[in-house]
Amino acid sequence: MNQHDFIYEALPTRVVFGDGTLAKLPAELERLGALRALVLSTPGQAASAENIAEQLGSICAGTYSQAVMHTPVDVSEKAVQHVQKLEADCLVAIGGGSTTGLGKAIALRTGLPQIVIPTTYAGSEMTSILGETRDGVKTTTRHPNIQPKIVIYDVGLTLGLPAAISATSGLNAMAHAIEGLYAQDRNPVISLMAEEGIAALARALPTIIHTPTDQKARSDALYGAWLCGICLGSAGMALHHKLCHVLGGAFDLPHAETHAVMLPHTVAYNTPGAPEAMVRAARALGSDNAAKGLWSLNAQLHVPSSLRELGMPEAGIDLAVQLALKNPYWNPRPLGEDGLRGLLRRAWAGEAPAA
Ligand code: NAD
Repeated sequence: MNQHDFIYEALPTRVVFGDGTLAKLPAELERLGALRALVLSTPGQAASAENIAEQLGSICAGTYSQAVMHTPVDVSEKAVQHVQKLEADCLVAIGGGSTTGLGKAIALRTGLPQIVIPTTYAGSEMTSILGETRDGVKTTTRHPNIQPKIVIYDVGLTLGLPAAISATSGLNAMAHAIEGLYAQDRNPVISLMAEEGIAALARALPTIIHTPTDQKARSDALYGAWLCGICLGSAGMALHHKLCHVLGGAFDLPHAETHAVMLPHTVAYNTPGAPEAMVRAARALGSDNAAKGLWSLNAQLHVPSSLRELGMPEAGIDLAVQLALKNPYWNPRPLGEDGLRGLLRRAWAGEAPAA
C-alpha cells in the first residue's frame, strides 16, 4: 500500500480512561441527558451492576443481568421487552464482550445510547459491530447505533479479572491488532495503534498472570486493549476472525480461548501473504517471527493449546472448513480447502503452527 494513499476515519466514541473513573459515570450520564439508565451485566457480575445501580440512585431504572456469550437473539429480544417495560432511556453495560454485546443488540433495536464499562480486554466497546447468534450461526452487523457513545475504562475494575481470562482476553485483543496490520483498508494511524497495542499487551500479560493485581501491568493491558479495540472498529478483519466466528457459532466454543488457540496458526498461514505486517507484529511481540512469538507467548501464559481442549469434536473440522469458505472475509493470502483443513487440524490437535 502506498503510505500516502489511505482513508482514516476516527471513531466517534468518547473515552474516559484511568483508575477510579467509574465515579465519573453520573457526570457522563448527565452529558447524555439520561434520566433512566438500565445497567446490564452477566449473571456472574450482577453484584457489580447492583453496586452501580446504588451509586446512580434515582437516575437508574433497574438492572438486567442476563447477558451470555455470543449474544443469542432470543436473549436480546427478551431484554428489549424489559427495556420497554422500564422505559429506560440509556444503557450502561458493565462487563466483558458478552455484556457489551447485549447492550449493542438492544441499542440496535431501540436506538438507545450506551455507556460501556469494560472489565475484560475484548475490545467490543470500540466498535460499531455486533455479532449475534441464531440457530448456531453467528452473523455480524455494522450500524452507527451499535457504536457506544461513551466508554469508561477503569483499571481498578480489571484487577479482579481472573488470570486465565486475562490471558485469553488479552490475546483476543491482540488478534484485532494483528489483523488490523494487514487489513485491506489498513492505514498508517491504525498500524501505529496496532503495534503499540500488541506491545503493551505482550509486556503486561506475563506479569498479570503471576500478579493479577499489579496496577501498572493492568493499566498497560487495558491501554493495549483499547488500542486493539480501535483496530477492530476501524479496519476490516480477515481469516482469523472469520474462523473464530465459525468455531464459536457452530460449536459454541468459548470466545477468547478460541482466539488464543487460533492466533498462532492463522498468523502462520497469513505470513506469506502479509510479510511487512508480520514484521511489525513480530517486532511488537519482541520476536523474530510473529507466529512463533505468539506460540511461545501462549505457552508462557498457560492458555489452552488446542481446539480439542475447548470441546470441539474432530469431526467438526470439515464443517468448519466449509463454513469458513462460505462468504469468506477478504484475506491477504488466498484461501483453499486443503490449507484451511491443515490449519484447523493443527489447531485442533495442539500442534505448533506450520513453519
Ligand atoms: P465475557 O464477556 O463472556 O466474560 C467472560 C466471563 O468473565 C464472564 O462470565 C464475565 O462475567 C466474567 N468477567 C468479566 N470481567 C470480569 C472481571 N473483571 N472480574 C471477574 N469476572 C469477570 O467474555 P469476553 O471475552 O469479554 O467477550 C466475549 C464476547 O464478546 C463474545 O460473544 C464475542 O463475540 C464478543 N465480542 C464482540 C466484539 C465486537 O466488536 N462485536 C469484539 C470482541 C468480542
